Amino acid sequence: MSALEKSKPEEGLWMVQAPVPEIGPDDVLIRINRTGICGTDIHIWNWDDWARSTVPVPMITGHEFAGEIVEIGKDVDGLHIGQRCSGEGHLIGHDSRQSRAGKFHLDPGTRGIGVNEQGAFAEYLRLPAFNVVPLPDDIPDEIGAILDPLGNAVHTALSFDLLGEDVLITGAGPIGIMAAAVARHAGARNVVITDINPDRLKLAAHVVPTVHTVDVSKEDLHDVIPKLGMTQGFDVGLEMSGNQAALDQMIEALVMGGKIALLGIPPGKSPVDWSRIVFKAITLKGVYGREMFETWYKMIAMLQNGLDVSRVITHTFDVSDFALGFEAMKSGRSGKVVLNWR
Ligand code: NAD
Ligand code: ZN
Repeated sequence: MSALEKSKPEEGLWMVQAPVPEIGPDDVLIRINRTGICGTDIHIWNWDDWARSTVPVPMITGHEFAGEIVEIGKDVDGLHIGQRCSGEGHLIGHDSRQSRAGKFHLDPGTRGIGVNEQGAFAEYLRLPAFNVVPLPDDIPDEIGAILDPLGNAVHTALSFDLLGEDVLITGAGPIGIMAAAVARHAGARNVVITDINPDRLKLAAHVVPTVHTVDVSKEDLHDVIPKLGMTQGFDVGLEMSGNQAALDQMIEALVMGGKIALLGIPPGKSPVDWSRIVFKAITLKGVYGREMFETWYKMIAMLQNGLDVSRVITHTFDVSDFALGFEAMKSGRSGKVVLNWR
């Protein structure tokens, strides 16, 4: 089969011929239809310090996918050949205290497809049946291929009750923009999204017309607060940039007793104004991945009930043009980039 592989420990990815994976009794084989390119894949392409210290070579990359089941392990129940699906790319063990308590997303032994295990940028993917998420007929493969990052947005946005709340999102990357759509869907009062990249803010307004965008390189976030009828500040913050200045700004712009869910990953150690958090009585929550499988359940329910994130997909390429897809992602001007494998 064709697969997009990190074949050598240097910059780039290569289209190679690899054997179709063999499945075990608890696995399924999925024929891939569409995949999404993630920031993680860009790190792997660039072969930065994180990738070098994390990803063994050779490795088939990719973890955002939609496809169709073509083979089923002998101990698997409840799935059928031809079933359209996406799936959770975090592979977990079942022996840890967290897993045994049903908190699968907190298993300390989590391994990622396309990072620690062979990934989804291939014609076929082996996946434990446990990780499969069937796709309803009304969710197309393009959306199926971005459920992983939409799940990050949903997990973060639903960390705190948003109904009637004023929500600040820092970072209008694809995940921040999708979080804005989710916050709206969940009944937030004002949703404000910040960035320093005007293209990203334009995209945010295109995907979520009711969101208020702020270019923090030009505008002061504090000027926006009274304009939107807020007296003190934001009730909930969703940090989606991984940028130190954005988090500092968020802490400042929050009400006393405000809540912050942190998804963005800073490039290294970064200082926080700890006493501000104490004296403002702020609740902080780190968010990793998606809740298995509550996030998937809620995200599909929202998609079937009016949540529309389709416009966040700005580029679709045939997989033979994968280099163009990576170029679009690296430009910092795209939303989600989808590759077509069929
Ligand atoms: P992205 O890099 O496409 O978007 C981040 C955005 O933040 C960019 O548009 C950038 O211009 C903006 N930004 C930079 N400085 C800013 C500032 N001072 N104020 C406001 N915005 C600023 O990333 P993405 O794919 O949308 O992902 C969002 C974040 O979530 C990334 O940091 C990513 O690494 C992280 N992530 C975390 C998890 C997890 O499980 N915790 C999973 C996926 C992604
Ligand atoms: Zn991803």
